[in-house]
Amino acid sequence: MTTETTKPEHFIRKILREDLESSKVNKIVTRFPPEPNGFLHIGHAKSICLNFGMAQEFGGECHLRFDDTNPEKESEEYVQSIKSDVSWLGFQWAGEERYASNYFDQLYSWAIELIEKGLAYVCDLTPEQAREYRGTLKEPGVNSPYRDRSIEENLDLFKRMTDGEFDEGAKVLRAKIDMASPNMNMRDPIIYRIRKVAHHQTGDKWCIYPMYDFTHGLSDAIEGITHSICTLEFEDHRPLYDWFIANVTAPAVPRQYEFARLNVNYTVTSKRKLKRLVDENVVSSWDDPRMPTISGMRRRGFTPTSIRNFCEMIGVTRQDSVVDVAMLEYAIRDDLDKNAPRAFCVLDPLPIEITNFDEDAVETLTLAGHPNRDDLATRSVPFTRHIMIDRADFREEANKKYKRLVLGKEVRLRGGYVIRADEVIKDADGRIEKILCTYDAETLGQNPTDGRKVKGVIHWVSATHGKQAEVRLYDRLFNEEAPDRGDVDFLEKLNPESLQVVKGAYIEPSLCEAAPEQRFQFEREGYFVADRFDHATDAPVFNKTIGLRDSWAKIENS
Ligand code: ATP
Ligand code: MG
Repeated sequence: MTTETTKPEHFIRKILREDLESSKVNKIVTRFPPEPNGFLHIGHAKSICLNFGMAQEFGGECHLRFDDTNPEKESEEYVQSIKSDVSWLGFQWAGEERYASNYFDQLYSWAIELIEKGLAYVCDLTPEQAREYRGTLKEPGVNSPYRDRSIEENLDLFKRMTDGEFDEGAKVLRAKIDMASPNMNMRDPIIYRIRKVAHHQTGDKWCIYPMYDFTHGLSDAIEGITHSICTLEFEDHRPLYDWFIANVTAPAVPRQYEFARLNVNYTVTSKRKLKRLVDENVVSSWDDPRMPTISGMRRRGFTPTSIRNFCEMIGVTRQDSVVDVAMLEYAIRDDLDKNAPRAFCVLDPLPIEITNFDEDAVETLTLAGHPNRDDLATRSVPFTRHIMIDRADFREEANKKYKRLVLGKEVRLRGGYVIRADEVIKDADGRIEKILCTYDAETLGQNPTDGRKVKGVIHWVSATHGKQAEVRLYDRLFNEEAPDRGDVDFLEKLNPESLQVVKGAYIEPSLCEAAPEQRFQFEREGYFVADRFDHATDAPVFNKTIGLRDSWAKIENS
């Protein structure tokens, strides 16, 4: 078969191509194997894009398999969120989703097979004793006194473990490999343990559960996975992966390949840590827009394309590294710059009265949906005597660098007229309440004809026809580059300004019709998305996805 691609080469792609070309395999079968014990994060996205992406590229298939061997930490809620995240990213798993727990019967009979071959035994060491017997990286382990139990005794004890006769922790089933192996994973690893808890898929059927290492590789074999792609921390587990497959009557021989996991600065990518953020109410939920979870990023306004592009950009290697979060931010900015329609939103409204424009008049201006995308619909923006501009866009006095509205000077309203600030009205405390302006009726879409130069352009919204909205301004959750490094708990490194809620922003009327999850560039402010859950026509809510420029880089370089 032909395996030409235009994508940049990486070692996994190379292996797959060579295996197809040499007919080592006829079809690529990969899998994405999350444990349903939390929501997926950006690190998982890398694995998803790799496993599904490679299968797609080479005309193979990718399975979604829940590696659900820890019932007490798992739940159906997590299963649902994972399915929804993978679909949203744009991938479709082959067939139904699969569960390692579907294979518990088969795994159980392979455990018996190992016992019958003298390759597994029931061990009564307490966890503390087992730790001592295990040795260290420098010292070999010591054989368990239960290692030489007869096959009959092992079969009997294992059956009684299965029947619930023993307490949790009283006994385990271990593989009989090599207590002196330099690889700790090979020192008679546990394959089954007693857990008297119900399972989200198998209910009360089992009170013993297989360990991850035993389950994972053999599930791959059951499913005919050809390339089992995982992160580098499993490299030392590969001999065990191969050992299990070699020592039971496995229907196929999958191969494991490892790549470097994704780490992103200013971010934590560990389900355990993300769970703490949720459990300790640092964020509102797993899908809080500040979370690096896929559902959080979705709610923040990231597009599936931007996440897939990011994963393509970072590449696939065997070198551990930390990716700059600015790359992720670049990926979303780039996508939204090209595709998000433009709109006006005034975050900190300052009233303007245009004294030479009729009180009741409404002029409907037609503005481009996007500066270089004729295919995006134009928008109708009402211009009225009372408008709002952003407080930061007016000063009573300013030097030439300030290209916005200054008392006595002119500025262009984007898509509209040139106005001049004539008078400032203040309240008793000296706070500016309103600016009285005049507009030049000859300047719609053209410069003043008498040669007056107007440099600045600001955005605006009709005060009478615009609508009020809630806008949630998000920023990075952590203000340190490596929140989970060092002695200080990562929760001490939170950015106190990661969320700011603006209640009375003014949006142009068309934005009320935005569908949940519709994305925009609010001109001069950044990229925003209508909140997936809270946005409604009569109560609009927008989330800030990302600013127009990288404000963090600016701070660091200044
Ligand atoms: P965490 O470390 O966040 O708890 P995990 O590895 O325990 O994640 P799993 O559900 O076991 O989570 O992961 C499913 C798949 O995603 C695995 O193949 C794992 O290697 C991969 N994966 C997890 N985190 C990353 C990451 N940061 N970068 C790349 N792949 C990852
Ligand atoms: Mg894991």
